Amino acid sequence: MKFEEVLRKASDVAQSAINSANGVAQSAINKVNEKADEIERLENYKNIITSHEAEIESIYRSLGVKVLESGFFAEEAKKVETLKKEIKTCESEILAHYGLKKCEACEAEVSIDSNFCPNCGAKINLQ
Ligand SMILES: [Zn+2]
Repeated sequence: MKFEEVLRKASDVAQSAINSANGVAQSAINKVNEKADEIERLENYKNIITSHEAEIESIYRSLGVKVLESGFFAEEAKKVETLKKEIKTCESEILAHYGLKKCEACEAEVSIDSNFCPNCGAKINLQ
């Protein structure tokens, strides 16, 4: 065999190996892309579930408020009011720690030394 022929054969073998490697690489890339698409599809389902569950919870909350306001569940409504008062007390304690209190008119946080709310101008009651 002539030297040129040997070189051509070697070149053909190398090209064939490159083509084969490209095929394997492309196949791997396709598989990765398919997996990514599948993961994205499943993530979309999870997002739909999360969003719908949040909407259902919101409807339940809204219904719960309406049921409590209907007056048919006085004991539960009273308990909710008690819990709300306790939350307010806890919030006031936290604000007081930072030298603040809430304006009763607009709920803005104002300095505990303020006589008037800088946000709405309402008189701040000393407690
Ligand atoms: Zn205010």
